[in-house]
Amino acid sequence: MRPMSREEVRGAIVNLDRTGSKVRLPAWFDDAPWHRIDYLGWRDPRAAKCAYLVTEADGQALGVLLRQAPNHADGSRAMMCDLCRSSRRFNEVSLFTARRPSRDKRERLNTVGLLLCTDLDCAVKTRTEPTRHAYDPPGDDIIAARREGVRSRAIAFIRSVPDAERTARRRT
Ligand SMILES: [Zn+2]
Repeated sequence: MRPMSREEVRGAIVNLDRTGSKVRLPAWFDDAPWHRIDYLGWRDPRAAKCAYLVTEADGQALGVLLRQAPNHADGSRAMMCDLCRSSRRFNEVSLFTARRPSRDKRERLNTVGLLLCTDLDCAVKTRTEPTRHAYDPPGDDIIAARREGVRSRAIAFIRSVPDAERTARRRT
């Protein structure tokens, strides 16, 4: 993705708890490997269970505040990340939830979940050299398609978060 400014990333979060709450950026922000990643993912430096995910849609920064749910999965199961779709050991993928923004108190309990690489670094999995079969496209094409998939699924998820209006209508 293209490099973004701090202001841009901070302004991208669609579901901050209160307007005016501050988005704390990672200490390594200036060294973010923009060319390598399809979303910027990091944990809040002061609240380890809070994470942010920011990507780019139609040239605009688009991001979400997530909370990591307690891990209840049993140790023998493999889990699949919803964004990079790699199967990993159970503790390498975690459930994160995003609170839907709403002025209505009851609606604040409304969350939407995502299984995500616990290290918030799908890029590592996306870029591993694919095992190719005789008629598969070249490795670079496979990696490019995976990256496109990560980006489009991240956008679809983030866009689904502030869609509280539709949820409210469904309830009535
Ligand atoms: Zn992943």
